[in-house]
Amino acid sequence: MAKKLSIVVSVYNEALGLHQFYEHTNQVLTNDFAKTGWDYELIFVNDGSQDDSLEILREFASKDDHVKVVNFAANRGHEAAMIAGIDYSTGDAVVCMDADLQHPPESLADMACKFDEGYDVISMIRTARKDAGLIKRITSWGFYKVMNKLSGKTKFENNSSDFFGISRRVALVLKKDYRERVRFLRGYVQNVGFRKTTLEFEASSRIAGESNYNIKSLIALSLNAICNFSDAPLKMGIYAGLVSLVAAFILMIYSIVQYFLGTAPDGYSTIIVLLCFMFGVLFIILGFVSEYLAIIFAEVKNRPIYIVDSVITKDGEELQ
Ligand code: UDP
Ligand code: MG
Repeated sequence: MAKKLSIVVSVYNEALGLHQFYEHTNQVLTNDFAKTGWDYELIFVNDGSQDDSLEILREFASKDDHVKVVNFAANRGHEAAMIAGIDYSTGDAVVCMDADLQHPPESLADMACKFDEGYDVISMIRTARKDAGLIKRITSWGFYKVMNKLSGKTKFENNSSDFFGISRRVALVLKKDYRERVRFLRGYVQNVGFRKTTLEFEASSRIAGESNYNIKSLIALSLNAICNFSDAPLKMGIYAGLVSLVAAFILMIYSIVQYFLGTAPDGYSTIIVLLCFMFGVLFIILGFVSEYLAIIFAEVKNRPIYIVDSVITKDGEELQ
């Protein structure tokens, strides 16, 4: 029996470009991809879109039995959508991709071949980034540099993206063991181990609409990622605290000596310097402690990562 690739596409307010995405992807899947001998399913996860995305997805599902739509009850974010897609996948391998054609479906055939060769994890690496301006490129480069410095044994591919492929057994690990609320999915994917390879792709510009990630959500994602994979910030706080203690101690000796020599200054500057320094260190530590606290809080609440409203296939709509 032919192997089946589950293609997970997260959709949030993509009505403008969805038809183009579907037509283009379908064309690739029925031509180049078909030559690999793989079968496929297209799982669209509608992440609580407020535009006509759901209606358009319904239309795809009604005429194409490769299509399954997992419809969220509310917007939960890209990562939750990918996790849901992986949960609902039934294939021998799963690929996650965006709905805006920034991740070329042309790569799917190559990915299928890599799975045939026995690889479990395929990281897709962006080469050219027509999608991103200079600032985004620099921050993304800086992010991976910092991540790799901080995270010890776990390593992240530079320029990796939310475009990746995983075999059934990796998908099962993600389904079963990686149910954290504060997540960095591409980090898990790259670090579960198994047989790993990379493929390159050229990220093109969005076909329609605007990027849903803004500076704020990117900072949030980066902070999550760093605090999830590394306790370096906590340790950094402790080291900074130690250094400040030593400095304060030296200052103290200095002022005692000055006192006995009778050349004691009025002490004002010492106090100010000390205060600033200690408070600075204290706040850094406090900031990181609260970051971890926030993660613990999120885990303890134990809320569902997503809530599915319905699943739509050619056979009809099944409320969950
Ligand atoms: N997306 C989602 N939920 C969200 C935001 C985005 O499912 O809350 C989807 C979106 O429809 C797209 C993918 O995630 O398919 C990547 O989003 P986007 O293109 O806005 O991000 P960028 O490519 O600019 O990083
Ligand atoms: Mg995009």
